[in-house]
Amino acid sequence: MAQTGILLETDNGEIKEANFGVITAARETGDNEVVGFLMDGSAEACKAAVQEYGVKSVIEIKAGAGDFNASPELQANALAEAMRHYEVSALLGLSSTWGRDLMARVAAAMDAPLALDCVGVAVRDQIVTKSHFSGKTIAKIKLEGDVFLCGIRPNAIEAAPAAVEASTDVYTASAGDSGRLKVVETKGATSGVVELTEANVIVTGGRPIASTENFSILKACAQELGAAVGASRAAVDAGYAPHAMQVGQTGKTVSPKLYIGCGLSGSVQHFAGMKTSKIIVAVNTDKDAPIFTKCDYGILGDLFEVVPALTEVLKEQG
Ligand SMILES: Cc1cc2nc3c(=O)[nH]c(=O)nc-3n(C[C@H](O)[C@H](O)[C@H](O)COP(=O)(O)OP(=O)(O)OC[C@H]3O[C@@H](n4cnc5c(N)ncnc54)[C@H](O)[C@@H]3O)c2cc1C
Repeated sequence: MAQTGILLETDNGEIKEANFGVITAARETGDNEVVGFLMDGSAEACKAAVQEYGVKSVIEIKAGAGDFNASPELQANALAEAMRHYEVSALLGLSSTWGRDLMARVAAAMDAPLALDCVGVAVRDQIVTKSHFSGKTIAKIKLEGDVFLCGIRPNAIEAAPAAVEASTDVYTASAGDSGRLKVVETKGATSGVVELTEANVIVTGGRPIASTENFSILKACAQELGAAVGASRAAVDAGYAPHAMQVGQTGKTVSPKLYIGCGLSGSVQHFAGMKTSKIIVAVNTDKDAPIFTKCDYGILGDLFEVVPALTEVLKEQG
């Protein structure tokens, strides 16, 4: 049976929900045995969650020497070594900031092909699916080689449980570190904010939000929904939100379960970054706004009335 590796991502020692879609893709039709790799000492803690989705072995990777946490190069070398040891023929992970960086290093270390930001993968056939030209075309790309790596867009693949009994193991790598690169500090988004690209729910504000302060209306609603807050380029260009919040062709690509666009016209460039959202809700004062032809649910109304009303209902429902 083929072994497929997963680069599992955690947040403060807890497995990120976005991993489950990646595990689902790795299982394929059940023909692949899935091996999960972790690097932060949380294998035992994460076992129960990942075995629900079909991970058979959870491997904690450690380095025999060197500052493992501070060296992406050492992590990559250790992961490449573990992949060879467990004879995995594919490594799937999240196309997140960390995943993109680490998988690129592993691909270089193994001289293996890599595709990032994929929206699908056929592991046995070594074919990945990618959205190109702002979502206008879908490319199926064959990756040649004994081993390949694939970063999957968070939430692009629906997670489906398939429980198994997992075992845990520790792999101590002998890989070395050139010492050329050391992470001295990591600065995340403001604490408590859900990462935009991994969020299940996103509330986005467009140009009519009209000020930085007014984003607090969306943030209050997002807090009730456990959502992240995004912005259109028009809102970012006007200085109401930082570029890190921008969704779209020249911003972030997101695939949440629910996308609530408040005061968005529905431009092609904005949709390029969120059209794979499962359910799109639009709030707009113009009944002829293009977004109403592209959304699942449309609310004809002023965002300054609709959003606070929604927040109140959510608060009442607890
Ligand atoms: C190369 C290129 C790349 C681009 N990349 C991006 C990108 O990454 N992301 C992006 O977003 N854009 C991008 N754009 C810009 C894009 O073309 C649009 O200009 C932009 O998305 C419009 O933003 P908007 O919907 O917030 O504003 P608008 O187009 O001004 O739409 C505002 C909408 O809000 C409605 N409205 C007004 N008042 C209210 C109210 N009180 N309540 C509810 N609704 C209200 C209006 O009816 C209108 O439909 C790019 C453009 C180019 C050329």
